[in-house]
Amino acid sequence: MLHVAIIGSGPAGYYTAEACQKASGDAVRVDIIDRLPVPFGLIRSGVAPDHQSIKHVSRRYEAVALTDNVRFVGNVTIGEHVSIEELLTLYDAVVLATGAPADRPLDIPGADLPGVVGSAAFVGWYNGHPDHEALAPVLDGPGAVVIGNGNVALDVARILAKTEAEFAGSDIVSHALDALRRHAINRVTILGRRGPHQIAMTPKELGELGHLERAAPRVDAADLPPIEADAALDPGQRKSVALLRDFAANASAKPVDIVFDFFARPLAIEGEGRVERVVVERTALDGDGRAHGTGETYMILSGMVVSCIGYRTSPIPGVPYDKRAGRFANDEGRIAPGLYAVGWARRGPTGTIGTNRPDGFMIAEHLAEDLVQDSGKAGRAGLDALLSERDIDVVTFRDWQSIDRAEIDRARTGSPREKFTSIDTLLGARPAR
Ligand code: NAP
Repeated sequence: MLHVAIIGSGPAGYYTAEACQKASGDAVRVDIIDRLPVPFGLIRSGVAPDHQSIKHVSRRYEAVALTDNVRFVGNVTIGEHVSIEELLTLYDAVVLATGAPADRPLDIPGADLPGVVGSAAFVGWYNGHPDHEALAPVLDGPGAVVIGNGNVALDVARILAKTEAEFAGSDIVSHALDALRRHAINRVTILGRRGPHQIAMTPKELGELGHLERAAPRVDAADLPPIEADAALDPGQRKSVALLRDFAANASAKPVDIVFDFFARPLAIEGEGRVERVVVERTALDGDGRAHGTGETYMILSGMVVSCIGYRTSPIPGVPYDKRAGRFANDEGRIAPGLYAVGWARRGPTGTIGTNRPDGFMIAEHLAEDLVQDSGKAGRAGLDALLSERDIDVVTFRDWQSIDRAEIDRARTGSPREKFTSIDTLLGARPAR
């Protein structure tokens, strides 16, 4: 028997479990440990609530979770309830699939003013993540600035711009929907420090901005390179740039403007006790495509700033960490004997959910190469004994299913689906033991 502990129950964790199952069949036991009582990580708290088709991938993880050789162990925090060292004595392999839940810091003056939030916090807030439910973002408008030209910036701009009706069928939490319904934002400026050819926005997500009820995207045609230059782009990027060209050509009048401000880097955020404006410097690109300030500055009036400039993995004491890259130091997923990293914790916050699948399969191959069967480690039985000794109230996958049913029942009494806004209430939804 091979005993594997995976820390983190998001896509990277479940794809790794699936790969272990495929590689070793009944000769492996996998425990997926999560600090939350509910599984699926980023699928639940990172994917936008109006992107339900993406969230459906969790059904595949559920199929893995309900097999005998994979188990979900929720409500257990590494470093608090059990240490990595202890897990390494109990399991043949410990795989860190902890993602990148912290915002990359926005290192400019005023970034700590009330009204400036990172995307991890803002996205967590509208998705009901318990760490961010108390965020209470300032939504009194009239302007909002979103920093970054990636898909997260698009998610944030779109969520700020949608009407209540456009959230039908989503699983946005009610505290966010209530706040968004009442907000007074009529201009969302998306700041990109480079240009249209350098965006990290995929066509499907960008295209959605062109079909919003009360909001329209605005692109200044002067920012677009000559159309012949698009031929050098890869097909996906060419499609995205074609959409920006459409936005520049078709400026329909709607109550909310989503303004793409390219070649614009934030220099400072200012205001009396809260965000009131962002000081921006015009940039130009050098021969390597890097942005440099031109010295020309201007102000954007804004009541809130959401910084969508990427994420970092949270360090774990004793685990080697690459500070510059913001992830665990590793060689193709190997950290130290018996210790591995997968997904964003391995490679940083890039790629789609599906990118984690080959990552998981690579780790399963490493395990097959590096480990021997029947090492005599205690595995699950050892963890159960340790947690029971420490009086830790573990949540299993069956418990999670009853939590999920309770959420759906509660959602029937209100409009959007309420998620885990109160962990205690949800834990109360578990069947008696
Ligand atoms: P991202 O794709 O890496 O984009 C980060 C953006 O922030 C880039 O435009 C970057 O500009 C900019 N940036 C970085 N540091 C900056 C600074 N100091 N000042 C100003 N701008 C700065 O990251 P993301 O949007 O967080 O997305 C993370 C991953 O999740 C991506 O792979 C994304 O595709 C994926 N995702 C996918 C979906 C979806 O498929 N629906 C939704 C959300 C996220 P430079 O290019 O100049 O560095």
